[in-house]
Amino acid sequence: MLFSELGLKPEILAALEARGYKEPTPIQELAIPYVLMGRDVLGCAQTGTGKTAGFALPMIEILSSGKAKARMPRSIILEPTRELAAQVAENFAVYGKGLNLSIALLTGGQGMEEQIKKLERGVDVLIVTPGRMLDLHERGNVMLHDIKIFVIDEADRMLDMGFIPDIEKIANILPKLRQTLFFSATMPNEIKKLADKFLMNPREISVDAPATTATTVEQFIVKVGFKQKREALRAILRSQEFKSAFVFCNRKKDIDILVDSLKRHGFSAAGLHGDMVQTKRNEALDSFKKGEIAFLICSDVAARGLDIKGVDAVFNFDVPFDADSYVHRIGRTGRAGADGKAFTFVTTDDEKLLQNIVTLIKKEIAEFKVEGLAELSAQEASQHKPHFKTHPRSQNSRPARGGDNRRTPRTKNRSEPSAEPAQDNQRAPLADSRRDESRLHESRPYESGRDRGGRNQNQRPYHAASDRHDQNRSQNMAQSNNDTGSSVVGFGDDLPAFLRGTRQKMASLAPMISKEKIV
Ligand code: AMP
Repeated sequence: MLFSELGLKPEILAALEARGYKEPTPIQELAIPYVLMGRDVLGCAQTGTGKTAGFALPMIEILSSGKAKARMPRSIILEPTRELAAQVAENFAVYGKGLNLSIALLTGGQGMEEQIKKLERGVDVLIVTPGRMLDLHERGNVMLHDIKIFVIDEADRMLDMGFIPDIEKIANILPKLRQTLFFSATMPNEIKKLADKFLMNPREISVDAPATTATTVEQFIVKVGFKQKREALRAILRSQEFKSAFVFCNRKKDIDILVDSLKRHGFSAAGLHGDMVQTKRNEALDSFKKGEIAFLICSDVAARGLDIKGVDAVFNFDVPFDADSYVHRIGRTGRAGADGKAFTFVTTDDEKLLQNIVTLIKKEIAEFKVEGLAELSAQEASQHKPHFKTHPRSQNSRPARGGDNRRTPRTKNRSEPSAEPAQDNQRAPLADSRRDESRLHESRPYESGRDRGGRNQNQRPYHAASDRHDQNRSQNMAQSNNDTGSSVVGFGDDLPAFLRGTRQKMASLAPMISKEKIV
């Protein structure tokens, strides 16, 4: 099929040609006609499939007729992370070139003044993280009754990050008569139920089995002891002569340590995680994209969707707690038909997590031997392991895809849950402050109201005084820290209906959940 057969405007076709797209990808071929018809769409597709253009192109087509009024955007796209939001905004700018649409990217971590001015000028496409969306609405800076199209992108990631209550709130304030496009890389039951709630007679579209790894990515495990990981990483980086790679860690403190260590050994490295101020995050990502920095040491905030060409390799410095994350992480390399390599460092304690990955991707992963790395005895191998508990999902061997209980309620990135059910009259401490991913990390209880540098939370650069939710956070944090019996894995009073029956089950998982799990 050709793009010209999809009924898109000449300006859009010209932009696609300039971009070098020859034909629509399967998701585009399937989604575009239905979006143009005004149908709701439920799309099961990962990033990398061309999903963004699948909704962006028909949206541009639809929105190019008409004009936005001040403070009344005509469409909203919710993205889980600021980096993804920025990437989607870039895509809209490229595809919509020549059509004079007003596109606004509004995310947390940046001053609100400029964002408010943008809204006042009128916005056709508003790309936003859920927290910032609610902040702006609650401050009266944005009116939502002119929304024609509502896009929820990366819904399963939103679930992972505890954004579902925010999304439900946003959906409830939007006009009932609207078009909703809902995309998720996987369709576990919780997501399906959510989609049933938000969508009207949607056209269901699915491309690719959700958990396939690209054939262009050669995958390896590297058996290491905890103390050998850095040495192994350096040895592989040197021997393989990689020019650029993502290195994923499970804990942000390891990211900072690893960046320092690599720099000391002469490597060009930068960190990227949700506790960094947004300007630093942008700087790190930009430098990596431009090739000024060779190795980006990051948390799962960079695992999804970042589309950076020419990344030679991905390292899982830690085996991800969640097998899905493995697929997303290694998908950062081997893009657009290029070759890529993925190395996963596996200690004796990671066998179960590794098994979950093998079950999910349905293939064994070959071992890569690092030359010169000492063989460790079993006892040595398990020494100096970090003091954290395994993610609850790793306690259960995850059934193959499509099984009924594939996903337990998401618990990661949330405040450590109490073992008690929530009291109805007590507001969940973190519900309001979990406005975007940065705040999500900042509000974890182990930090006790202070960041690791000992600074008071209120002194952090990101905490714009204008942000009402931020102002409440310290109070919420204090409440959270003293709280022994009220929070329910981050949902609190906002526990969505589809999870209500599982509250007790979630509470019973409480002791197993790491305080240090990060994104
Ligand atoms: P996405 O899944 O939207 O993140 O897109 C993944 C990558 O595919 C991006 O680099 C897009 O620019 C690219 N892409 C999207 N649609 C097409 C197409 N029809 N032909 C070639 N590349 C595409």
